[in-house]
Amino acid sequence: MDKKVKVIPCSGIGKVFGLMAREAVLKTVIELCPETSETVCLAHIVTGDTEAKAKIEGLDCITVDGCPKMCASKNVSAAGGILIEEIKVLDTVKEHKGKKFGSPTMLDADGEDVISEIAMKIKERIT
Ligand code: SF4
Repeated sequence: MDKKVKVIPCSGIGKVFGLMAREAVLKTVIELCPETSETVCLAHIVTGDTEAKAKIEGLDCITVDGCPKMCASKNVSAAGGILIEEIKVLDTVKEHKGKKFGSPTMLDADGEDVISEIAMKIKERIT
């Protein structure tokens, strides 16, 4: 059985917080926890792709969302994933008031710092 925790960001195209969700997940699955985690494309989950659904159904998932609409969390749950953690980018952003995080396509240094913090939170939940 596939034991890797699935870490799934929202799509968040056009928003810096969406970019931060995606970057935090990539940092986790590529750099911090490559042996114990992997990601799955949210668009495939939403459109009912059988391979994507099989990767999450009944298995541990962590979602990372860029805004209160919680698209990743809602859709992973609806597709049968077991949510062991629902990360909200805004929870970490709130701790960095007044900083600039970048644009929807490129993070500034402060944005990079925040995604590193989020990735560490995800790592702590996985290990
Ligand atoms: S959670 Fe918010 S930022 Fe992310 S895809 Fe949904 S609407 Fe966009």
